[in-house]
Amino acid sequence: MANVAFIGLGNMGGPMAANLLKAGHRVTVFDLSADACKVLADAGASVAGSAREAAQGVDYVISMLPAGKHVAGLYLGAEGLLAQLNASTTVLDCSTIDAATAREVGEAAQAAGIGFMDSPVSGGVAAAAAGTLAFMCGGPEAVFPKAQAILADMGRNIFHAGPAGAGQVAKGCNNMLLAIHMIGTCEALEMGARNGLDPKVLSEIMLASSGRNWSLEVYNPYPGVMESAPASKDYKPGFMVDLMVKDLGLALDIAEQCEFENPMGQLARTLYSEHQQAGNGSLDFSSILQKLKG
Ligand code: NAD
Repeated sequence: MANVAFIGLGNMGGPMAANLLKAGHRVTVFDLSADACKVLADAGASVAGSAREAAQGVDYVISMLPAGKHVAGLYLGAEGLLAQLNASTTVLDCSTIDAATAREVGEAAQAAGIGFMDSPVSGGVAAAAAGTLAFMCGGPEAVFPKAQAILADMGRNIFHAGPAGAGQVAKGCNNMLLAIHMIGTCEALEMGARNGLDPKVLSEIMLASSGRNWSLEVYNPYPGVMESAPASKDYKPGFMVDLMVKDLGLALDIAEQCEFENPMGQLARTLYSEHQQAGNGSLDFSSILQKLKG
């Protein structure tokens, strides 16, 4: 069993840290929110007064924070954790952040002799609670087995995507594709419905044909087709439009940095941003159907 410092106990980090406790690890937590810390304390975690205090002498530091600036603030600079940790600690940042910051932190960790991997996740709050997340890790080959050893207690599929930053690039590629095929699925279903087809029947046809995709398979955006999907629960998330807009912004940054024109990704970002600005940020991302319906 490992000693773990867990920093960032929000919608995702809270249940992830709870799963580490359930697996028998000793977990010390820190979050700016005392309420978030209290939930984990009740589940058996020790609460530290700062990230530095939490990270003292641990085998792993795991962070789950909102954005790149929070991750850079936690790890970099004279006050950052990389200046404090020693080589026996493995650091895994599971936040979804820009690939450039992930590379910067990865390179700073390497220079300090500390094993670091950016390890963003696929799967939302339900997967975090169920321990079925997918992790996409970026960093040195030698660190990956250590990452796998602990991430296996919070997820089901753990991939080594490549060097520092590659986890964030993989996440950006995946979520851009998810947005594109969700929009395409909505367009196909609405076009069928306007021509008198039952969306349920059309879904069955496309699922058995070459239009088959994840949105159709487990997340049908048409209300009433799939009882368990957010579409059948007034688009209660699920995965919020706000988070999809964030992830598409990160994907477009990646494209820009490698001078790649990605017209479908850009259009997906425009459509989701407009949908967000119309006041739908806290709905599930499959609610983009409502925008397309006009
Ligand atoms: P959240 O806003 O619920 O939680 C973030 C937590 O970090 C908060 O509790 C906040 O108090 C804490 N925090 C912020 N700065 C801190 C600091 N300097 N030190 C300690 N604690 C700090 O966010 P979330 O939904 O848990 O998402 C976390 C990350 O996971 C994000 O990068 C998000 O994009 C990604 N993600 C979220 C989902 C999802 O469905 N929610 C899915 C996949 C990935």
